[in-house]
Amino acid sequence: MKLAILSRNTKLYSTRRLVEAARQRGHTVRVLDPLRCYMRISSDGFAMRYKGKPIEAYDAVIPRFAASVTRYGNAVLHQFEQMGSYAPNPSAAFARARDKLRCHQLLAAEGIGLPVTVFGDNPDDTDDLLAMLGPPPHVIKLNEGMQGAGVMLTEKPSASRGVVEALRGLYANFLVQEFIAEAQGADLRCFVVGDRVLGAMQRQAPAGDFRSNLHRGGIATAVEATADECAVAVRAAKVVGLGIAGVDLIRSARGPLVLEVNASPGLEGIEAATGLDIAGGIVEHLAAHVRPVARPRRRRPVSNGN
Ligand code: ADP
Repeated sequence: MKLAILSRNTKLYSTRRLVEAARQRGHTVRVLDPLRCYMRISSDGFAMRYKGKPIEAYDAVIPRFAASVTRYGNAVLHQFEQMGSYAPNPSAAFARARDKLRCHQLLAAEGIGLPVTVFGDNPDDTDDLLAMLGPPPHVIKLNEGMQGAGVMLTEKPSASRGVVEALRGLYANFLVQEFIAEAQGADLRCFVVGDRVLGAMQRQAPAGDFRSNLHRGGIATAVEATADECAVAVRAAKVVGLGIAGVDLIRSARGPLVLEVNASPGLEGIEAATGLDIAGGIVEHLAAHVRPVARPRRRRPVSNGN
């Protein structure tokens, strides 16, 4: 298999591990900076070049780019798809996953549990909007926040109103959720590949914080997710359209609730906590799913008689 990894940094742990796992299994792999890929779009075919040379016939492609390059990166990913590459995380799903609001709507529509969530636009509606949610504590999140940045806990109605007004003033998109107190600062990251949870870890927030993100000082330990939690995680990834996903669950009194479905989940935390070869699992999944030959998709020439 010939594999492309769309990443801006070859030194990142996840990128390195995917390269290593692919080479160990005898595959050809190349890391491409999505911002150096340039494309020709025409009804007679799709072409891509990279630093002056053509890019063609990659069997599979994995997006590993940051939120800041989502738009361009997704266009590159879509071009690979048009050229016949297998994308376990296709561009449409990748874009969806990076929009929390949309994901929540899709998950709720499929009956998947999540913290009750409200959002609105007009400042005149703030009081009524918060009333739809119920009394604080509330969790207020930036719609495009990552790694716990832009996730706030408010304990009084005046604090909720103040934060909402401040975010509006900054033209930020956000959502407000019920606070799941019984989770006690812990969440569960389930690493989904295909129809399976390859590994799971519990992340515990540091003292004084409710956010368990590892980037915020959370501590990770390997855990066995229950059958119910695995089923919810796999279903959530499927609803968003992702073959590879980090699904964050919170354990609530009413069962597992989905906090987030991450389309480019980091490998370092989960491999360190579980000791599992998650990168290898991803590569094996790709190898089992690539189409036999990936060729640029071209329109058949129309013959004159037709
Ligand atoms: P990000 O995408 O920035 O990681 P999350 O929605 O995953 O944002 O929230 C970050 C962390 O905050 C979670 O891992 C969890 O520990 C905590 N958290 C988020 N939402 C809630 C909630 N509704 N109730 C309790 N804790 C929450």
